[in-house]
Amino acid sequence: MAYNCVVLVKQVPDTKKITGEAMNDDGTVNRSALPAIFNPEDLNALELALSIKDKFDGRITVITMGLPTATAVLRDSLFRGADEAILVTDRRCAASDTLATSYILSCAVKKIDYDIVLCGRQAIDGDTAQVGPQLAEKLGITQITYVEELTELNDKTIIVRRNIGAGWQQVRAKLPVLLTVTDQVNEPRVAAAKKIMKYKKALAPIEIEQRIKAENSEANEADVKELAAHKCSDLEKTGLLIKQWDLDFIGADLNWCGRSGSPTKVRRIQSIVLSAKESKEIKPNDQGISDMIHELIEDKTIA
Ligand code: FAD
Repeated sequence: MAYNCVVLVKQVPDTKKITGEAMNDDGTVNRSALPAIFNPEDLNALELALSIKDKFDGRITVITMGLPTATAVLRDSLFRGADEAILVTDRRCAASDTLATSYILSCAVKKIDYDIVLCGRQAIDGDTAQVGPQLAEKLGITQITYVEELTELNDKTIIVRRNIGAGWQQVRAKLPVLLTVTDQVNEPRVAAAKKIMKYKKALAPIEIEQRIKAENSEANEADVKELAAHKCSDLEKTGLLIKQWDLDFIGADLNWCGRSGSPTKVRRIQSIVLSAKESKEIKPNDQGISDMIHELIEDKTIA
């Protein structure tokens, strides 16, 4: 049996590179000062979908909700083997907290025929790990979080091993199911050279319009729309059009989107700056490690 998978991927700022310059005065992150990357565990989610497709066949649809620049992670997904990529973008998504984000994503996923929905466990910027479980609730399907191994998959059920901190659990569930995966589940494959050559030309309609405007500064709005429509139709014929959905298309209730759909209120932001005071060189041998452990026990850093 073939399985259709939907993978939710997010473009995130590379939080490993946060330095003083990447922080705004109000304590928020200056996203434009940081490189934008594929959320690491979403690569593991995509890899799990690809391995299911390799073994059983089926279709992989990748969805991201974000700004037009988020198409970079969609193209990357196509380079790695996804069949279809969808950008959910709309100004009315702005200020969405996790509840509104998962609602919007659920409206998009409901438009697709799926057996398995895959998410990363957590995004490295928002860091809440809420979107996967909230999405499963809104889709009305079973969720299994912290998945670190796919043990068995057959036409009715899936068996996975999930991390529970001090150990693991084996869980069996009926399909359809939503999994959130950790980085232990697999090693993401690299992009395939042939697919890079093909899909580097894949664009979403909003990117096409932006390019046309940049190349024809004299063109009026109607001309831009017409040229863009031609280009979109050409790309669609060759399978290079990244689909672009807005809130109207996915039938989202605006009361549940953006600010009005977001009960989270940010009361205060605190900047915590960690600075190293001193460093000590440890000999790279058993004695060096043993000395260090004794020292840490003596000063009660570890028990
Ligand atoms: P997690 O729950 O940690 O992510 C888990 C998994 O869910 C990911 O690995 C991925 O598989 C999936 N996932 C998460 N987000 C997406 C996505 N966007 N697309 C596809 N898959 C996804 N963010 C903005 O960009 N613009 C805003 O204006 C904005 N306003 C906010 C206002 C408030 C009050 C709050 C609290 C947050 C706001 N955010 C905004 C942040 C936004 O809510 C979160 O980035 C988003 O809900 C995802 O949460 P998370 O990063 O904790 O993801």
